[in-house]
Amino acid sequence: MRSILLQIALILAIASTAVAQPSPEPKVEVQKIAPGVAVLIGQGGNIGVSYGDDGAVLVDDQFAPATPAIVAAVATLTDQPVRFVINTHWHSDHTGGNENLGKVGAVIVAHENVRKRMSTEQFMEAFQRKVPASPPAALPVVTFTGDVSLHLNGDNIQARHVDPAHTDGDSIIRFDAANVIHTGDVFVNGMYPFIDISSGGSAIGIVTAVEETLASIDDDVRIIPGHGPLATKQDLAAWAAMMRTVTDRIGKLIESGATIAAIVADKPSADFDEKYGNGFMKPDQFVTLAAQSMAPEGHPAK
Ligand SMILES: [Zn+2]
Repeated sequence: MRSILLQIALILAIASTAVAQPSPEPKVEVQKIAPGVAVLIGQGGNIGVSYGDDGAVLVDDQFAPATPAIVAAVATLTDQPVRFVINTHWHSDHTGGNENLGKVGAVIVAHENVRKRMSTEQFMEAFQRKVPASPPAALPVVTFTGDVSLHLNGDNIQARHVDPAHTDGDSIIRFDAANVIHTGDVFVNGMYPFIDISSGGSAIGIVTAVEETLASIDDDVRIIPGHGPLATKQDLAAWAAMMRTVTDRIGKLIESGATIAAIVADKPSADFDEKYGNGFMKPDQFVTLAAQSMAPEGHPAK
């Protein structure tokens, strides 16, 4: 029995790009999306870049093997170095380049819970996967609790912590002058989110964070999601409505005392599965994690 469970856990871990491993020759595509701002798309999370005479500021840095390709991509935008890296959260597909970039002089900036979780071994229960502590050189050297702003390249680049959503160390980053935001994995475009309960994640926290974000952006904003293609405000609004609808349905099932099996069998995400159910979180997995994050202690759905 135990070995079967372990096998299932292994299959889940391998199937999930939420904890994806890099392939041998990482490639990075550069898209300029606003004056002085580009997105780098490769393996792992999307990277936002502010570039100009003051150097480059990266939002996330994918996996360690991608660092040479990332640095080469930045060199097509500015001849100045990467001066800062802001991590949207601790997951290794967003922070894997920290050590390499830190060693060549970039200052790593993140919410204090990013540093805390990277400093010690983590266990991701959803994938039955241990993540070792990161080496000291990979840790953020500037941490904040509420928000922090960088003033470079004629822009105001603000990282603002949101209440626990994808994890308990999430930040949403705004490039004010360029009118661009990077949501980290609080929003993933075209797919269901991974709610990392082991890292303090919460489905309701995601709803709150995306609804607050929607209220603070205009129609012309360009949105860099943690994963998936560049998004518009309309894309985010549709996704937020999906999250609100599915969590409302799950909430009612929890109130009725339903078990996880009963909640999953009710298929509360069914009408959205065609649009969002083909990403790394399959519908049943998404519903399970959402319900577990919402059920109170001692509830049969916990
Ligand atoms: Zn993540």
